[in-house]
Amino acid sequence: MKIICIGRNYAEHAKELNNPLPKTPIFFLKPDSALMQKNQPFFYPDFSNDIHFETEIVLKINKVGKYIQKEFAHTYYNRIGIGIDFTARDLQNNCKEKGLPWEIAKAFDNSAPLGQFIDKSRFDDVNDINFSMNINGVERQNGNTKNMIFSPDYLISYISQFFTLKIGDLIFTGTPEGVGPIKIGDHLEASIEGEKLLDLRIK
Ligand code: ZN
Repeated sequence: MKIICIGRNYAEHAKELNNPLPKTPIFFLKPDSALMQKNQPFFYPDFSNDIHFETEIVLKINKVGKYIQKEFAHTYYNRIGIGIDFTARDLQNNCKEKGLPWEIAKAFDNSAPLGQFIDKSRFDDVNDINFSMNINGVERQNGNTKNMIFSPDYLISYISQFFTLKIGDLIFTGTPEGVGPIKIGDHLEASIEGEKLLDLRIK
């Protein structure tokens, strides 16, 4: 399986990092070794002093597809979850300055904690899903999928022009504004529509 992550999919987040708004989706990959499931603790890595959380809605692909048309894209995913795109912001800024790829800052081990999934059928409209992140009991980030620049269906259609989507592939759909650093001892809880699906401690 592969993990495809979308960058700058919320206008307010692009602004907070002083990035221009994209005209087409920006995406990058994380390897399967980035995945962390079952609410395991995240161990702060030695190579960064500025790990940021980015809370993101995640789509799980359930059908193989290539050149998927947007009107059929909704039939290629059946589960929706919440995950964190942990980012070593110090390393990422260094990569950006030098025009280098981002993998060292984005794709390291355990950089993609994943919560439980919910059946898509439980949502009336995937383009109107509220989600949030609490850290140490205080809400630090919230978003709604209606504020995405590129909708889930558009993303699937776009990505599948380049990559064959396979069963079990995950799409992290980008973070809203409010990203920030984590520190050892933090307790992260992420929810969709008020239902807690991810619970994670930083060690
Ligand atoms: Zn992200």
